[in-house]
Amino acid sequence: MLHLLVASTNPGKLEEFRLAADGVAVQIDTMPALRTIPAPEEDGQSFEENAIRKAVYYSQFAPGQWVMADDSGLEVDALEGAPGIRSARFAADSGLVDSPDANDNTDVWNNIVLLQKLEGVAMRDRTARYRCALALARNGVVIATAEGSVEGMILEAPHGTGGFGYDPLFYLPELDQTMADLDPAVKLSLSHRGRALEEMLAKLL
Ligand code: IMP
Repeated sequence: MLHLLVASTNPGKLEEFRLAADGVAVQIDTMPALRTIPAPEEDGQSFEENAIRKAVYYSQFAPGQWVMADDSGLEVDALEGAPGIRSARFAADSGLVDSPDANDNTDVWNNIVLLQKLEGVAMRDRTARYRCALALARNGVVIATAEGSVEGMILEAPHGTGGFGYDPLFYLPELDQTMADLDPAVKLSLSHRGRALEEMLAKLL
């Protein structure tokens, strides 16, 4: 069985990776002691560049192992693609919080900033997409990359309690539900991360 170590401390992402491993011939674990490793600079210009940087960097701390990293985020058309690669730090960039950390209230602040920036924008113009890039590396060398995306709209108020990040504002017109309304397995089956993972596993298995 293929064994992948995921280099992420984001609990929402980890949950989705764990779910993705159900029923496939791959074991996905969190990289041990990840929090004790200083985080690398995420200064790439694209999701793919950042995912590669993270995978290459963290794989050097787990010699011989296959280490997978993800970089993902939200692109809003009315904001010219923002927050994009700055999705995790959207509120911090606006000076609202200074500790972007998936374990605090950063997601809430990010959603507030998004709603503020879209104030007055009509629903038909609130088109957006999530993008996810995955990179797999071993001993500091990239082995494979994959990408996925999903189209949606940004609501004027949050709805639903599942998921993480911008999910309560990310509306899927075909389902008439937000990402936060969906059962986790359903979210994964159509999400940017689920699609990127599918492509990655198809390359490996
Ligand atoms: P990263 O850890 O630099 O990849 O930041 C990703 C950020 O994009 C997260 O902190 C969320 O704000 C947002 N994001 C990525 N994927 C999702 C998702 O599936 N749902 C909601 N927000 C997401």
